Amino acid sequence: MKIGALALQGDFREHLAMIRSLGVEGIEVRTEEELDRIDGLIIPGGESTAIGRLAAIYGLIEPLRDKINDGLPVLGTCAGMIFLASATLRHEQPQLEVLDVVVERNAFGRQIDSFEAAMAVAGFDDPVHAVFIRAPWIHKVGADVDVLASVEDLESGELRPVFVRQGRILATSFHPELTADTRIHEMLMEVS
Ligand code: GLN
Repeated sequence: MKIGALALQGDFREHLAMIRSLGVEGIEVRTEEELDRIDGLIIPGGESTAIGRLAAIYGLIEPLRDKINDGLPVLGTCAGMIFLASATLRHEQPQLEVLDVVVERNAFGRQIDSFEAAMAVAGFDDPVHAVFIRAPWIHKVGADVDVLASVEDLESGELRPVFVRQGRILATSFHPELTADTRIHEMLMEVS
């Protein structure tokens, strides 16, 4: 098995280190040819507008969209989640539109910019130590999207999804690659 990390901008190196720690080959992906060689893809955290613009410059928007729609397993974290989404609240930017959610960027800013929290995840015995860095949350989910974890919006009292799955697409608002917990990367392997 070979897992790729989209290596345009952001913390793709940390993801690849985690993949390699699991004994799986991890490669940097910047071309369509590299995209054809992998069994699963990670889109890292970073800056979603930069990732989107660079993907457009590298001619990767259509190939990524086609591969993911054809069933390539993918894990998007933070900016990666934003890039996978159908739309962004109050904002236009290049997106793959393969994950049926509307995201709100920097959503916690009104509450607290960056923080860490123990968070229950559906299907996990123990909570995840979730690291949020200028993170998005999900404003609206489509019918085929399963919500695996949420946080409370302190202003409205509503629950906002921060970990979702739609078939072989996994997306987190937080950064599993910055902890020693490999369970979310293992989930990507399981669907790959
Ligand atoms: N704030 C960034 C964005 O909106 C995401 C931050 C991150 O990936 N840690 O793109």
